[in-house]
This record gives sequence, structure tokens and C-alpha cells, in this order.
Amino acid sequence: MSHVLDNPSLDLPAFAPGSVWLTGAGPGPAELVTLLALHGLRHADVVVHDALVGPQVLALARPDAAIEFAGKRGGKPSPTQADISLSLIRHARAGRRVLRLKGGDPFVFGRGGEEALALVRAGVPFRVVPGISSVIGGLAYAGIPVTHRAVNSAVAFITGHDLSGDVPEGVDWPALARAAPVIVLFMALKHLERIAARLIAAGRDPAEPVALVSKAATPEQVVVVATLETCAARATEAGIAPPALVVVGETVRLRAGLDWLGALAGRTLDPDLLGAKPDREIE
Ligand code: SAH
Repeated sequence: MSHVLDNPSLDLPAFAPGSVWLTGAGPGPAELVTLLALHGLRHADVVVHDALVGPQVLALARPDAAIEFAGKRGGKPSPTQADISLSLIRHARAGRRVLRLKGGDPFVFGRGGEEALALVRAGVPFRVVPGISSVIGGLAYAGIPVTHRAVNSAVAFITGHDLSGDVPEGVDWPALARAAPVIVLFMALKHLERIAARLIAAGRDPAEPVALVSKAATPEQVVVVATLETCAARATEAGIAPPALVVVGETVRLRAGLDWLGALAGRTLDPDLLGAKPDREIE
């Protein structure tokens, strides 16, 4: 039986032994894996994955591939990053096809650049296979566009903690609060209360809508809509579990009209919500 990946019009690159494909697995479900990532999974001798890559995606690997877990969870420093890079280099030098599989996209808060630079230093050939980032694909499944013409012409992606695991000092919060009508926070659950307080102190409206999107695009997806003032408490109350994205801004209101996943399960959507009274959709 011919396979979609064998279609000559795809003209997919060969996975050379001794090379590393630094690959994005998308936000969770196998349906959001790219054709190139699937091709990599079917040819890799070893798959080195992080914690965000689900079993559904790993199940697409060649049945005899070695599957190695090299994950860590948010908030913690990463003492093993050098070990992970070293293990990729060792596998490649042993002549294996190495698929380094990361959640979302490898270059979006994924340390993909760090690992790629280690490969460059070691002289190991590699390719970057982009994935659908949770900030794009995950929020699409939550019915929240990152931009909407009538609402915002800019969006900022921010990490909720820095290398030390603290609220990132490298972020100019007052400038961010002024410049980015929509802010998407990664890894922000731990410091949400402090981050929300900083944004309010920098002039953002405490009543501004905030969406907490846990396990986006997976069957366990949970979305809670709150406000900047209430989001930290609501996250705790609702038991919002990582991985989660926090969306601050007016595009959150669009979910009342764009929660297509909810609509498939019977939710009635409101297409006129932008003309609606601002606070009606919240909580
Ligand atoms: N490279 C990844 C991000 C890695 S940082 C990407 O492009 O998506 C890890 C953070 O990503 C998590 O703490 C969370 O904020 C976010 N994240 C990743 N997958 C997610 C998902 N399915 N649902 C919600 N948030 C997710």
C-alpha cells in the first residue's frame, strides 16, 4: 500500500545516518505533527524526546527505534542540558539517525538553539524541523486567535520564568504592558500572581480578560477565562495543570465566538461578541 510520505511530489529529504533532526512535535496530538516530522519519526534510529511529547506522537516512531526520555518540567534549572546535547552528539557519532523531538516548535522557548549550537560546535550535521507551537496550534484549539484585526496588531510571547526560575528580570514589564495589546505567557503558572500584579502596576486594566489554557489541543484541554485581577486565584481554584499558556488581552473574548471545539460538543457560539458589552463574557 502506498503511503502519503512516499508521494514523489513531497520530495522529502533523506535522513542521513550520523545526523540530528531537531524536530517540533506540535502541541500534543498526532494530527498536528508535520509531514516532515512524521518522515523523521519513520526513519530515526533513536528518538530523544522531552516531557511535552505525548505517547500518541511517539507511537509514530519506527517500531524498532530506541526511545529515550530527556525531559524536565518547567520552573527548574536545567543541569542536564549539556548531557542532552552530549547524548545527541554521541548517538550521531555512532552513525545513528537521531530525532530530537520537542513539544511545539523547537525554536520557541524550546532550547532548540542551544542544542543546535552544541551540534555545530561538535561538527554534527543537523536539520531543524519546525513544529506547530502551542502558542499557535494550542490557542487555535482553544478558540483564541493570537491576532485579530479589530483587536491587536501586535502580540508578545513571554516566558514566565528565567534561567534562575524566577520572574524574568530581562522583561521590561512596563514597556511590555504598553506595547503589547496581547501577551501570551509560557511557563507562567508558578509566578502568575506576581506577573499579573506587575502588569496591573504597569497600567493594564485589572478587568482585562485572561485565558488559562491547560494541555491545549489534547483531549485533556481545559480553558478558564478570568481577568488579570482574578487569574491567579482562578488558576488555583480550577486546578489548572501544566503545561499551560496564559493569554492576556482582548482577543480572549473572541473565544465566545470562536470556540469551535466547544461548538462541536454543543456549545452555542456568539459571532457578534465584539460589539457586546465588555464584561459579559468573562467568567
Ligand atoms: N516549544 C514549545 C514551548 C516549550 S516551553 C512550543 O512551541 O509550544 C514549555 C511551555 O510551553 C509550557 O510551560 C506551556 O506554557 C507551553 N505549552 C507547551 N505545550 C502546551 C500545551 N499543549 N498546552 C498548553 N501549553 C503548552
